[in-house]
Amino acid sequence: MRQYRIAAIPADGIGPEVIAAGLQALEALERRDGSFRLDVTTFDWGSDRYRRTGSMMPEDGPEQLRAFDAIFFGAVGAPDVPDHITLWGLRLPICQGFDQYANVRPTRILPGIRSPLAGVGPGDLDWVIVRENSEGEYSGHGGRAHRGMPEEVGTEVAIFTRTGVTRIMRYAFRLAQSRPRKLLTVVTKSNAQRFGMVMWDEIAAEVAREFPDVTWDKMLVDAMTVRMVKNPQSLDTIVATNLQADILSDLAGALAGSLGVAPTANIDPERRYPSMFEPIHGSAFDITGKGIANPVATFWTAAQMLDHLGETAAAARLMRAVEKVCADGILTPDVGGTATTRDVTDAVCEAIRMENI
Ligand code: NAD
Ligand code: MN
Repeated sequence: MRQYRIAAIPADGIGPEVIAAGLQALEALERRDGSFRLDVTTFDWGSDRYRRTGSMMPEDGPEQLRAFDAIFFGAVGAPDVPDHITLWGLRLPICQGFDQYANVRPTRILPGIRSPLAGVGPGDLDWVIVRENSEGEYSGHGGRAHRGMPEEVGTEVAIFTRTGVTRIMRYAFRLAQSRPRKLLTVVTKSNAQRFGMVMWDEIAAEVAREFPDVTWDKMLVDAMTVRMVKNPQSLDTIVATNLQADILSDLAGALAGSLGVAPTANIDPERRYPSMFEPIHGSAFDITGKGIANPVATFWTAAQMLDHLGETAAAARLMRAVEKVCADGILTPDVGGTATTRDVTDAVCEAIRMENI
C-alpha cells in the first residue's frame, strides 16, 4: 500500500468548508482505488488562532510541516484581521520557506459551466498560468518613512534574480513543451519597467534556445488582459511575475466561469520540501457558513496534489468525476446553479464510485 502524509490547513472563512469537501472526495478515491492511503493531519492554524494567541501558526509551524508529503490548504483572511497579517502570518511563509517557486494555475471551461465571454465554450479556453512564486513584487522588501506626515514615503521593492527568473522560465518552457500545442506566452511590463522586466525578456530568449520545439511570444501585461478576453483561443501556457500572474489568474478564473473553479499548486519542483495545494479563491466572508461555497477548485487542486504524489490514475478519475457532475448541471450558485457544497460533494463522491469513471 502506497502511503502519503498530508497536512490539511483549512484556516479561514470557507476554507474549512471546501477542505472538508476535498477530503471527502479524497477518501472516496482511496476506497475506490484501494492501493494508496492518505494519512491526514489537520492543523487549526488561521485567524481564530491569531485572535487567541497573537499568531496565525506556531513559531515552529514550517518545521512541523516539513515531514509531510504535501500540504492541502484552504484560505486565509478574516474581516477583523488585517490581510497582510493573515497572508504573511501563514500562507507566504510556507510558500517562501519551502521555496515553492512555481505556482501552477490551470484554467479550463468545464463542461456545463458557462464563460461570461459570448460564444466561448469548453475547448476555447485551456490555459496554464505559471506564476513566479518566490520573489518579484512579493519579496517583502520595502519600508515606510515619515509615517503619517505629509511627506510620507512607502516603497515596495520588486526583486528579480537571474536564478529566480531562469528557474521559473525553464519550468514554464518545460510545461509548455509537455502540452499538445507547445505554446508559451511570456508576460512582462518591460516597456515601463526597465530593469527586472527587461531581464525577464532577456532570460526568456536565452531559455527559449533550450526548447526549440516550443513556440513562444511576449506580451505586455496590460495588453495581455485584452488578449485573454478577446482571443482566448490564442493562448496556452503563460508565465508571469508574482503580482502580474496573481491578477491574470483571477481574471482567468472569472473567464472560466468563477473563482470557485480555479485551482493552484505551489510547487517545489526539486522536491526538497512539501508542495502546497489550494483553491485560488480567498476566504469569501460574504458566503461563509451558508453551505454554498463551490468545492470544484478544491477538488481540482486535490487532483493536482495526487498528480504530484504520483497517483495519476486517481487524479484523472477525480477530474472525470468533477466534469461529469458539472455536465449534469449539479452546480453551486456562483456558476448559475442551486446546488449546495454538500450536493456537489456527494455527487462527485458518487461518481467516483461509478464503474465507468
Ligand atoms: P475571495 O476569493 O474570498 O472572494 C471573491 C468573490 O468570489 C466573493 O464574492 C466570493 O463569494 C466569491 N467566491 C470565492 N470563492 C468562491 C467559492 N469557492 N464558491 C463561490 N464563490 C466564491 O476574495 P476577496 O473577497 O477579495 O477576499 C476575501 C479574503 O480572502 C481577504 O481577507 C483576502 O485577503 C483573502 N484572500 C486569501 C487568499 C488565499 O488564502 N490564498 C486569496 C485571495 C484572497
Ligand atoms: Mn490572488
